[in-house]
Amino acid sequence: MEGKDKCFECGRASYIFYPYLRQNLCRKHFQRLLMKRVNGILASNGIRGGIKPSKDNRLGRRFLSFMSKRGRTITPVSSNTLEDFALAVGLYFLFDRIPKIRIKEVNAFSPLYTTSEDEIISFFKSKGREPRPLKRNKEEEYVLDFLRGLEGRRPGGMISLVKMGIRLKII
Ligand SMILES: [Zn+2]
Repeated sequence: MEGKDKCFECGRASYIFYPYLRQNLCRKHFQRLLMKRVNGILASNGIRGGIKPSKDNRLGRRFLSFMSKRGRTITPVSSNTLEDFALAVGLYFLFDRIPKIRIKEVNAFSPLYTTSEDEIISFFKSKGREPRPLKRNKEEEYVLDFLRGLEGRRPGGMISLVKMGIRLKII
């Protein structure tokens, strides 16, 4: 991924290209962007200090555990990711499945509803780790392939789908 392209923020070698933002970012600024986004979502939902992620999504859990600060208050949060919510909406439209997850659960908000598993994997790779992608069941993999294709052709497509699901109050 590292090439001759330069970071939009600092001019160092690019680590990743963000099609959605049309920006190249170095390791440091990519890590910062991701953490800032999730911290912003946590803060705007009144969650500060420590968080305790649920076990739903291994990658989401790993990222949120990394993000968790020390604090007297530990807030339980859901570890579901953008893929989980995009899948829930996709399965609803394609196969009439009623979503089982919600972004705002009574006692576990989902701070990663705009963060993709690809971003989380790139985040840990930028720190020299190599987490494995998640395996889902056949039907979910089929829908996710379709959604990733959509994302490839139209960056931000998965987030748009999730936002549509929020507007329709199905997630
Ligand atoms: Zn930079």
